[in-house]
Amino acid sequence: MDKIWTDMYNAAKGVLKEHKLSDYATCGEVGAAVLSKSGRIYTGVCIDTCSTLGICAERNAIFNMITNGDYEIDKVLCIMPDGSNGAPCGACRELMVQIMAGHYKDIEIMLDYSQNKVVTLGELTPEWWIK
Ligand SMILES: [Zn+2]
Repeated sequence: MDKIWTDMYNAAKGVLKEHKLSDYATCGEVGAAVLSKSGRIYTGVCIDTCSTLGICAERNAIFNMITNGDYEIDKVLCIMPDGSNGAPCGACRELMVQIMAGHYKDIEIMLDYSQNKVVTLGELTPEWWIK
């Protein structure tokens, strides 16, 4: 396994911290790390609210990347509450497709860190509406 996946795993684990923001919102049950094409790692946590105003950890990490002036995604990893990894949801896939139109299929996603199972976004979304 590339060392960068370990760095990303540790970065995502570092922000994983469940917290109750209020009676209506929680955060930190899922942590994500995104590696930009420039080689920097950005993290994010999920924010869950009772009225769909929250955000997935992956999109939060991508927004963090963009906020910091990095615009291209290379790799994505998230850690679920049970410690496993997961595929990005449809909304996160859609965002990646739209901001990386033309080359989103090369984005690598860690599906299972313990098994070193990596897939590309192109494998997850082979027939997306944007080519
Ligand atoms: Zn998502």
